[in-house]
Amino acid sequence: MNKHDFALSRRGFCLCCLGGAALATTGQWLTPREAFAAAKSQVLIIREAAAKADITTIKLRDGVSVLVGSGGNVGVITGKDGKLLVDAGITATRPKLEAALADLGKDPITHLVNTHWHFDHTDGNEWLNSEGAAILAHPNTLRHLEAATRVEDWNFDFPPSPKGALPTKLLKGNTETLKLDGKTIKLKAYPPAHTDSDLSVFFEDANVIHVGDTLWNGLYPFIDNSTGGSIDGQINAAEADIKMIDKETIVIPGHGEIANRQDLVEWRDMLVGARDAVAKLKKEGRTVEETIAANPTKQWDAKFGQWVIPPALFTRVVYEGV
Ligand SMILES: [Zn+2]
Repeated sequence: MNKHDFALSRRGFCLCCLGGAALATTGQWLTPREAFAAAKSQVLIIREAAAKADITTIKLRDGVSVLVGSGGNVGVITGKDGKLLVDAGITATRPKLEAALADLGKDPITHLVNTHWHFDHTDGNEWLNSEGAAILAHPNTLRHLEAATRVEDWNFDFPPSPKGALPTKLLKGNTETLKLDGKTIKLKAYPPAHTDSDLSVFFEDANVIHVGDTLWNGLYPFIDNSTGGSIDGQINAAEADIKMIDKETIVIPGHGEIANRQDLVEWRDMLVGARDAVAKLKKEGRTVEETIAANPTKQWDAKFGQWVIPPALFTRVVYEGV
């Protein structure tokens, strides 16, 4: 069995064959946009990577840790009032996540916060809820999870989530403060940013913040124009994060390695530069394909374009938002 057959049987289909399959089904060639989306479904890439990944635990400060390897970074604070998790990872890694959580202490999992509705941050909601975790989220996270939701740039239709996966407590205003084991945990909603459902979670005593997908440290982000996100929202969120923290703050990004304020500044500068370069080409009347071909993000590609969001997809989602 060659590598190609293996991929086919393992996944039930093969990413590199999607173009051909669509041709056979419809009798028509895919448009460049459809071909791009079909070949690059980030949902499948992230799910597959998480299913194979090991979980790495990094202890940060004052009972706050991060579990890396299951979709978005999972923040954890442990204490006698139980464990609070920030983001739920991918369900396929449940056994490894459970083992990593058990290693942090025997306190039960009592709370889960979803930083936004995306699958790589909410996929594990159902099993965590079944273990007793209340799920806190922005009202728009509930809205997107309980309905079928299409993300155009992933070319992916998410079905409605099962009832057990839905948030059980919604943020009422823009901020909310929790007290667990005497420690202060501040939740803050952003105006539409990466999506229309983003939250950050600040562990004030530890001076550690989980900023969800308002930071992909050292990586181009996906920006979800389908559910309220935009490049300008992403930039505004980065500005808000920079204002909220100091140079001692440990920043847990949604994706990428543990960061600090300087990483956020460099990320914000890249976003602003990419926005301006793409907006200029769009204003000149270039199509999205012509804009991608002009490679407006060239100066940042070596640093930020090396993971699941390549320069072409990043340019596309920026173009759609300016
Ligand atoms: Zn996301």
